[in-house]
Order: sequence, then structure tokens, then C-alpha cells
Amino acid sequence: MTDLTGKRALVTGSTSGIGLAIARGFADAGASVMINGFGPEHEVDAILADLRKRSGAEAVHSDADLTDPEAIASMVADCVSAIGSPHLLVNNAGMQHVAPIAEFPVDKWDKIIALNLSAVFHSCRLVIPMMRKAGFGRIINTASAHSLVASPNKSAYVAAKHAVAGFTKTIALETAEEGITANCISPGYVWTPLVEQQIPDTMAARGLSREEVMNEVLLKAQPTRRFVTVEEVASCALFLCSDGAASITGANISMDGGWTAQ
Ligand code: NAD
Repeated sequence: MTDLTGKRALVTGSTSGIGLAIARGFADAGASVMINGFGPEHEVDAILADLRKRSGAEAVHSDADLTDPEAIASMVADCVSAIGSPHLLVNNAGMQHVAPIAEFPVDKWDKIIALNLSAVFHSCRLVIPMMRKAGFGRIINTASAHSLVASPNKSAYVAAKHAVAGFTKTIALETAEEGITANCISPGYVWTPLVEQQIPDTMAARGLSREEVMNEVLLKAQPTRRFVTVEEVASCALFLCSDGAASITGANISMDGGWTAQ
């Protein structure tokens, strides 16, 4: 099992879904963690208490809105003062909007690019100098099967995720001799609020029932015919932080039940 005792992690978009599972996995391995994202105060407090119990180390929260570069800088500064400079950075916060291109709302395009792409740039540009100083770092960007292939009506998301895959390769090359690795994990469909929330829009855009969207759009793409679990993604993130993964950098690891093998 990966031992992260003494390591400090910043996991964005971790009050829910994949990010929360990764934060739990890191805490189980002994890391102190800053989580980020939105949610009712009592729920966030319960998550922090659980993380502290799992790790025996500190757990703190930032409610920074990562579409705002200044808020990202504040989050990183708060992380440094609360738990110390991060050894592990998971850029996971993301959002989706489903609409045909001619009707795609401009504000949604701007927000998806800001959160799913530009936020990854901002946190990396701020944290990499700290990792360089420490001589160690693990950067994990939650991309998507949509970093490799497209689906209709998801132009902003597909554009942002393809760009994240290219960005990750670039920073992997820039940090390759400095004890830092940078990789993408690219899940297929994982059952989280992000997927649940796009069902009504997909029903409208394609004229399908809920059942048809589940089976003929989402799971149709995945030969395994089941959703990827958040725990599976967390296991992969944990492995990428282990000593055994020191030579894995610039990779885009698919966890999509065979979707992109087709
Ligand atoms: P989710 O909706 O369960 O969680 C999203 C998290 O991001 C929450 O903590 C939310 O509060 C936070 N967040 C949203 N907007 C934010 C903002 N502006 N600033 C800061 N935090 C914000 O989603 P999820 O399914 O766990 O997705 C996590 C990542 O995984 C995303 O990047 C998503 O694109 C990617 N992904 C998801 C799937 C899937 O099927 N669920 C598949 C492939 C990739």
C-alpha cells in the first residue's frame, strides 16, 4: 500500500464525486489534505472530520471558485499557510454543459474553459515552483475519455479536456528531471452528480428518455456496460503517487471500460 505519511495534498473539486474519493484515498494513506469545492457547511465539516480520522493528519477546506485566477492564487496561499506547500496536486474540479454548437451559451463556454482548462494552468504555474524546491511532486489532472474522443453537444468540455491532455504532456517534459511527474487520468462515465445532472439536457438535445440516455448514450460507449467507480479512479491516483510510478510522466491513463479502445 502507498504510504503518504508526511505528504501534503491539494485536491480541487473534492467536496463531491471523484475528487472526494481521491481525497479519502490520500487521507487513508496518511496525507494531510486541502479539499476544495462547494457544499453546505455542515457537509464540508463532516468530510473534514472524516478525513482527519482517516489520516491522523490535518484536513482543511477552500471554497475558492476556480473560474477566478485570483481565487486560485488565494487557495494555493491558504494551502501553504494551513498545511504547507503541496507535494501532491490533483486538478480535478470540472463542469459540463450539453448543447448543440449553434445554441451553446457563450457564458457556459467561457466558464467551462476557465474551470476545466485555465484553472489547471493556474494551479500548476503556482505550485510547480514549490515542488521544484522540494525536489518532489505528483501532478494528476482528471481529464476524461473526452480528452481522446468526442461526443456531440459537448464542444466546450471536449475542447477543454483535449487541451488538458496536451498541457499535461508539456509540464511533464518541463519538470522531467526534477522529481516531479504529471499525468492525466481519463475516466469514462463515472456515476457522480456531474453525470446525473447532464441526463435532462441530453434527453432534450437527443429527444430520448432517461432510460435511453443511460443505456444508449452513456453505457453504450463503455464495453464493460457499467459505470467506472470513484474508488477505482482514487486507486489509480494513489498508485501515481507511489514510488513505483516515478517513471510514469506525461501519460494519459484511460479508465473507461474499453471505450477508447474501440
Ligand atoms: P462532481 O460534480 O461530483 O464534483 C465536482 C466538484 O467540483 C465538486 O466538489 C464541486 O463543488 C466542484 N466545483 C464545481 N465548480 C467549481 C468551481 N467553479 N470552483 C471550484 N470547485 C468547483 O463531478 P465529478 O464527476 O466527480 O467530476 C470531477 C472531474 O472528473 C471533472 O473534471 C470531470 O470533468 C471529470 N470526469 C468526470 C467523469 C464522470 O463521468 N463523472 C468522467 C470523466 C471525467
